[in-house]
Amino acid sequence: MRKFVPDAIYYEEKAKEYELGKELLEKYKDVPQIIIENHNNIEEMRKRENKEFPRMKRNLIIGIRKTHKFVPNNKISDYLVPYTSSGCTAMCLYCYLVCNYNKCAYLRLFVNREEMLDKIIKTANESEKELVFEIGSNSDLVLENSITGNLKWTIENFKKAEKGYITFPTKFDMVDDLLDIEGKERVIFRMSVNPKEVIQKVEIGTSRLEQRVEAINKLKEAGYKVGILIAPVIFVDNWEKLYEELVIYLKENLSEKAKQDVFFEVIFMTYSFIHRKINEEAFPSAINLYDQDLMTGRGKGKYTYKQELRKKGEEHIGKLLEKYFPNNRIVYFS
Ligand code: SF4
Repeated sequence: MRKFVPDAIYYEEKAKEYELGKELLEKYKDVPQIIIENHNNIEEMRKRENKEFPRMKRNLIIGIRKTHKFVPNNKISDYLVPYTSSGCTAMCLYCYLVCNYNKCAYLRLFVNREEMLDKIIKTANESEKELVFEIGSNSDLVLENSITGNLKWTIENFKKAEKGYITFPTKFDMVDDLLDIEGKERVIFRMSVNPKEVIQKVEIGTSRLEQRVEAINKLKEAGYKVGILIAPVIFVDNWEKLYEELVIYLKENLSEKAKQDVFFEVIFMTYSFIHRKINEEAFPSAINLYDQDLMTGRGKGKYTYKQELRKKGEEHIGKLLEKYFPNNRIVYFS
């Protein structure tokens, strides 16, 4: 991946009081730096048109995270935890972090990481059972790590906890600085994959399938627990063949060690009116992910695939995994 150099930094003045804030401002001292009141509401950005979406993604926002509410979850983790970043520099056409038009498009970094990790460690230690904390539901932490080093710092410091696990999904392969560190046994990496053609046309700015699979092998070899998310499943033309090729690719290219105990999650795409608007204006020549014959409304401008199609998808992918990965667990379809 090419190194990300922002066009401009927008920062809350208080960020300078934190070590990481100082480091980042120094690291990017050669790009324009603009003081903002609140990372949540940058008026200048809110006013920009949808077609400026890719340009806005070239900025970096630095602030303090004020909300630290853990949300109970029952899929792969016990809690979804707001962590060190929100948003991303990549541009997947379905990205779930694109909420109120331009409000959350860009990458926001929160420099009060000690406060956030302390709360996770305290909750882990006080619990009777081993808790799993999903720390990557608001951003891609592997991508973020290539800018801040936060994931490496987190893994190394989470080992202070007496028990518990942290987990996060990613679509990036820049894992080399995470291989030779302490604390790996408390981490569950989850690599998200899709057919090559889907990655190329839809997951703009992320790592290629080959690189992601290589990263899984390296992580497994280094001693991490690793899962694979087939996500989001998109019913593009020819989807049955494309997802079969994907599962065969995994079978042929994952290392024996990875294949031993890798587990799967399968998630179908949801889409929204806001995605449609942004994508139409910002990526006019991109593939159109909205298909009214295949989708149905789910309230608040959201769309999901129709139930009978999801069922077909579940059967197809379920059979493929059963055939090529008979000894591996499918944790859920969603
Ligand atoms: S990599 Fe993840 S966070 Fe980044 S744009 Fe894609 S879906 Fe969104």
